[in-house]
Amino acid sequence: MCAIITTGRSRMSYWDYWERGPQTWWDKYPASHGKRQSPIDIPSNGTKQIIMKELEIKYKPMKLRQIVENVGYSWKLCLEGSAAHLQVWGGPLKAVFTLDHIHCHWGENHELGNGSEHAVDGKKYEGELHFSHINNKYGSLSKAMDHEDGVGVLAVFLKVGTKANPELTKILEGLKHCEFRGKSFVLEDKVDIVKLIPQSSFYFVYQGSLARPPCIECVVWIVFKDPIEISQSQLDALNELQNHRRRQEGIKISNNYRPLCERGSREILLVKVPKKGCPC
Ligand SMILES: [Zn+2]
Repeated sequence: MCAIITTGRSRMSYWDYWERGPQTWWDKYPASHGKRQSPIDIPSNGTKQIIMKELEIKYKPMKLRQIVENVGYSWKLCLEGSAAHLQVWGGPLKAVFTLDHIHCHWGENHELGNGSEHAVDGKKYEGELHFSHINNKYGSLSKAMDHEDGVGVLAVFLKVGTKANPELTKILEGLKHCEFRGKSFVLEDKVDIVKLIPQSSFYFVYQGSLARPPCIECVVWIVFKDPIEISQSQLDALNELQNHRRRQEGIKISNNYRPLCERGSREILLVKVPKKGCPC
């Protein structure tokens, strides 16, 4: 569980969001030239509106060991234990997917309105959570990357408001032990990850890519239309994480998002979740 994408000697050698940022990915990761890349600017009405059977999100995270890690380009939350406690299906998904990990993208703390990967009608948010899942049909990320439905990512926008998010607070408490790249910490106060997903009745669906190298076009994206709220101090805390292993050589992790890619002629579904009891 919690696969790490490796394509060479070291997972940190070849890319990041800064010196080895997206403008340099083109050379090393040919898939990043593709026509179905992510992230994109999403039209708020999609290109097609649809009602689907419910997207089933069956996480039971409190039974699992939870580990946060500073991975240099972001933080990652991995949940260890039975895959049966980390599954999603239904909605646009044609198979059962198992959560691999959660990671995050965010912007600088003094610059609100930037930091998310996706945009809606050109509007970006201060951050974006990615719940990265692997299709159970393929079993591993390396095999899943060979298929256009190999990976399923649930994306949740983070908007700075007046209230701190209690579940993000638990992650940030753990990240106090992970200021530098490579550090990890087992959470004592477990995160109820279901509460990081908005109680929204709309989400977007489109076919795209991993939004970071190797940028393979294997992702079914499910992007919730409504954001969840975090506080300014939580955004500040994210911006304290260091990209390097030691303070003296470090830069802080912020603006860790890929610029928007061309949407092209791709279909973007706007899905309305039916009310309970709807036979559709
Ligand atoms: Zn991501």
